[in-house]
Amino acid sequence: MIPPRLEIRNIASSYDGMKVLKDISLSVKPGEFVSILGPSGAGKSTLFRLLTGTKSPDAGEIRVDGKMLGDASPAFAFMPQRDALMPWRSIIDNTTLGLEVQGMSRKQARSRVQPLFAEFGLAGFEQHYPAGLSGGMRQRAALLRTIVQERPMLLLDEPFGALDALTRAGMQRWLEGMWMRHDWTAMLVTHDVREAVSLSDRIYLLSPRPAEIIRVVDIPLARPRVLGGTAGAEAAAIEHSILETLLNLTEDMKP
Ligand code: ADP
Ligand code: MG
Repeated sequence: MIPPRLEIRNIASSYDGMKVLKDISLSVKPGEFVSILGPSGAGKSTLFRLLTGTKSPDAGEIRVDGKMLGDASPAFAFMPQRDALMPWRSIIDNTTLGLEVQGMSRKQARSRVQPLFAEFGLAGFEQHYPAGLSGGMRQRAALLRTIVQERPMLLLDEPFGALDALTRAGMQRWLEGMWMRHDWTAMLVTHDVREAVSLSDRIYLLSPRPAEIIRVVDIPLARPRVLGGTAGAEAAAIEHSILETLLNLTEDMKP
């Protein structure tokens, strides 16, 4: 049997004795798109810190393709919450950064990255600087820099949080198309219910800190998830039910 791409078992994590993640278990199969949905401050970014190895869990274990994290080669291509493009580097030099850090020459890195510029809607902007690009373009450049590292799994931390609603919707549709075409395995962290429903095969709902998984929601909607029509009504019903669960947790917000 093929092991899950990612398996997280009974993870707990804290900062200086403050419990952040209480008991998190989840698993992601190759090719799945899974979201972690929860309130701000729940510990979503902390979970990614545990995966990328910048923080160690207090308890529990993390396996990638059946192997304990750390024994495997770097497993995750991580796109942080802020786009983190370097303002003094051109777009192409930003997108090659991860490869250069891994030891690839700039020339070789450029030839790997260049063919992807069109698909990422960045053709013609290779020599521009981040400040000259729209928010959506900057996020696509950050994602391009992330995916060219060809790691087994993509981690996206609220990638569209800073974008206006229309740009965000466009980016979500584009990301779904890219995920379908490239057969990525992806985990998205978000506090946006609609975003999670429109992108995910499955959603794990987190309680406020110390976070536990309070509900697992499978999203059986056909892809691509076009807006409107009966699919739109089905998606809206799922969104509604998720919102109910999340609102029931925040007693102080009750009318
Ligand atoms: P989320 O991404 O879900 O908004 P985080 O994982 O960033 O939440 O943070 C969870 C909790 O841990 C918050 O209360 C936050 O203030 C706290 N926290 C995050 N990073 C640190 C840190 N480096 N040191 C101490 N506390 C932190
Ligand atoms: Mg966060």
